[in-house]
Amino acid sequence: MSPRRILLIDDDRLQFRLTERMFGSFHGERFILEWSSTYEEGLPKLLSGDYAACLLDYQLGARDGLTLITEAVDAGCTTPIIFLTAETSANVDMAAMRAGALDYLVKGEITPVSLERSLRYALQMAATLQQLKLLATRDELTGLINRREFDRVLAEEMERARRFDRPLALVLCDLDHFKSVNDTHGHPMGDAVLKAVATVMLAGVRSIDRVARIGGEEFAILLMETTAREALFAAERLVATMRAQRLELPDGTLLQVTLSAGVAVFPQHAADPATLIKITDQALYMAKRSGRDRVVPV
Ligand code: GH3
Ligand code: MG
Ligand code: MG
Repeated sequence: MSPRRILLIDDDRLQFRLTERMFGSFHGERFILEWSSTYEEGLPKLLSGDYAACLLDYQLGARDGLTLITEAVDAGCTTPIIFLTAETSANVDMAAMRAGALDYLVKGEITPVSLERSLRYALQMAATLQQLKLLATRDELTGLINRREFDRVLAEEMERARRFDRPLALVLCDLDHFKSVNDTHGHPMGDAVLKAVATVMLAGVRSIDRVARIGGEEFAILLMETTAREALFAAERLVATMRAQRLELPDGTLLQVTLSAGVAVFPQHAADPATLIKITDQALYMAKRSGRDRVVPV
C-alpha cells in the first residue's frame, strides 16, 4: 500500500517546511505531505477525496479556515480536518470543532509527537464516525437506507428538484399478504424474503435513484428527474417483475411475492415532503383496496 497523503492548507511556506520536517520524524505510519498555500487551491484539493486528512490554517491570507471548513462540510466532505490556530486566536478552536474539525493544534506548541498523535487520533475518529453514520442511516436487515435517512434524502432532493425545476417521483410499496408468508414459513423466512425483495428493487432502478425500507414490509423509492408517466411505468415494471419472480428461500422453497404501490410526483401532486408521502400512501391504500398486485397513481 502506498503511503497515505495528508494535505496542508497554509499560506505560510515556513509552516510547510516545519511540518514536513516533523513528518520525517514520525515513529508510526509514514505519510506524504502536500501543500496548498491558498483557500482557492486548497478547497478543491480537499474535496477531491484524495487525502486521508487535512491540516488547515486559521489564517489564509485575507480568508479564514473556518469558512473553508464550513464550505467543505456543506459540500459533503468527510476528510478529517485538524485545525491550526495561532496562540492569539483563542475561542477559534471551539468554533472550528463546531464547524466540523476533529482536532486543533496551537501553532507555536506543535511538536512532532503531538502532531503525530493528533493525526492518528483524527484518522481513527473519522473511521469511527463513518461507521456510526452507516449504522444510523442503514436498515440492518436489507442494507437499504432506513426511514430516518429517507426522510432526510427526500427533503434534500425535493429542495434540489425545486431549485432546478425538475420533477421528482415517489413510489411507496407494501408487500401483499406478508403476514401469511410469516405464518406459513416462519419469521426468519419472512426476513429472507424482505432481503430478496430489496435486491429485486435495487436491481430495478437506476443508480441515481434511492430505495429505502421505511417500515416492516414497506419500501419507498425516489426516482430522480422522473415524470408521472415515467414513474408509473417504472412502478408497473417493478410490480410485474416481482409477480414473475420466484424468490428462493434459504431452505430451497420457491416463493411468489407480490406488492402494491402508489405513485406521486413533485411538484405536480404535492409541494412538501409530508404531503407527497401522504397522498402517495393514499394511492397505495387504493391499490390494496382494489385487489393488490398493482400500481395506483395519484
Ligand atoms: P396487506 O396485503 O394488506 O399489506 O397484508 P399484510 O399481511 O402484508 O399486512 P399487515 O400490515 O397486516 O402485515 C404486515 C406483516 O409484516 C406483519 C408482520 O409480521 C410482518 N413484518 C413486519 N416487519 C417484519 C420483519 O422485519 N420481518 C418479518 N419476517 N416480518 C415482518
Ligand atoms: Mg404494511
Ligand atoms: Mg403488507
